Amino acid sequence: MLPDRESARSTSDEDLHSSPISRRIFLRRGAYVLGGATIAAGAALTAQTAAAASGKVSQAQAGYKATTKSASRCDTCAHFEAPSACKIVDGSVSPSGSCNFFAPRPK
Ligand code: SF4
Repeated sequence: MLPDRESARSTSDEDLHSSPISRRIFLRRGAYVLGGATIAAGAALTAQTAAAASGKVSQAQAGYKATTKSASRCDTCAHFEAPSACKIVDGSVSPSGSCNFFAPRPK
């Protein structure tokens, strides 16, 4: 059954009245999303800033992985400093890790 004019108007009025609430909810959710994105960006920036302050690249920039099945492991890399540091990648690195800057240790 088709709605008569009055009920159609009523539905339209309800839409108008509910519109500010929907807008409020939309804006609130948008604020949460924006806040989450800002926190994530801030964390990434903090990691990059710490890496830049140390004069090294961040683990993310280096593509560092804590474990690898490849023979290109940190403990065979020219940049590795035992027990858990790297000359060019910031932070603690695992001897069994690897990154895109791997360079074989000279024999
Ligand atoms: S592979 Fe080499 S350059 Fe990369 S994190 Fe390990 S020690 Fe550092």
